[in-house]
Amino acid sequence: MPWVDQERRRKYQAKWTSEHRQHLRDYHREYNNSHPENKAKNRTRGRIYHRQNAPWINEKKRVRDDGFRFQALSHYSPQLCCAWCFYSNIQALCIDHIANNGAEHRKAMKGDKIYRWLNRNGYPSGFQVLCLNCNWIKEIESRRSSTMGARHKIDIQ
Ligand SMILES: [Zn+2]
Repeated sequence: MPWVDQERRRKYQAKWTSEHRQHLRDYHREYNNSHPENKAKNRTRGRIYHRQNAPWINEKKRVRDDGFRFQALSHYSPQLCCAWCFYSNIQALCIDHIANNGAEHRKAMKGDKIYRWLNRNGYPSGFQVLCLNCNWIKEIESRRSSTMGARHKIDIQ
């Protein structure tokens, strides 16, 4: 029986799609893998789509990334303030690696953003929220006391 109410039809399809997201993903992956001849065509189509919809796509990404950022900050600091000085402007807060292993961790994340990585990995321990000032002060102090050699030291009086 055909759908009479188009609005109802649209809602039903949206609901079905969101409930079967993983199934659709697996299906399309399998289909695309078994049809390699479509690869170049799909890539071109994707590029054109992205170019035509860049403002919308970028805005969507920004909103999503802001969400990951807020979730991470409020997980590690429910009061949303710096762990050292209690500064609370959220725009100047960031995640700090308590053990000063940020550089290695960034390499291990392979280009993933920290906020997204934390979300994917269930917010593990070893992180805290600092303001950018305190984060930088901590960095300077660790470089000063570092025994890694002159390359990593910065000259401050
Ligand atoms: Zn601070």
